[in-house]
Amino acid sequence: MANCIFCKIIAGEIPAVKIYEDDLVLAFLDIGPINFGHTLVIPKEHHESSATIPEATAGRMFHIGARIGVALRREFDWDAFNLHLADGAAAGQVVMHAHLHVVPRGVEDGFHWNWRQKQYGDGEAAALAERLTKRLATALEREPEA
Ligand code: AMP
Ligand code: ZN
Repeated sequence: MANCIFCKIIAGEIPAVKIYEDDLVLAFLDIGPINFGHTLVIPKEHHESSATIPEATAGRMFHIGARIGVALRREFDWDAFNLHLADGAAAGQVVMHAHLHVVPRGVEDGFHWNWRQKQYGDGEAAALAERLTKRLATALEREPEA
């Protein structure tokens, strides 16, 4: 897609430090890493949202992302990694070509997700789950056969 920075990386029009490439996905180092080794896994086809990525490609992104996480863990002899995907501007998506972040993590790396925990009132969780289950069923019914 024109004017998409990640499509330009795929096309070789702007440089990136590549880690992995196949027919469906490309992985390269994030230019502003949370920790060194922070990698982005992207679909080769332009999709703004993770929700429109075909299942085979989405599966490959997760599969390769997790294996890059293991490679990062071994490389740095660190404990862990985060897989993170921001879908939509309000979720923190800045580059509008879907991408999975793979962030190597160590116990003392000085980085913390700003996580909060709200509490459901009586019956709220069950009522919400019922509505969501219906919406999900409708969405899955609409999907083309794999
Ligand atoms: P997000 O906020 O999830 O959209 O993340 C976008 C990420 O893309 C950020 O972590 C940026 O550092 C990264 N980024 C932007 N431009 C480039 C680029 N040319 N090469 C590598 N990473 C990039
Ligand atoms: Zn793109």
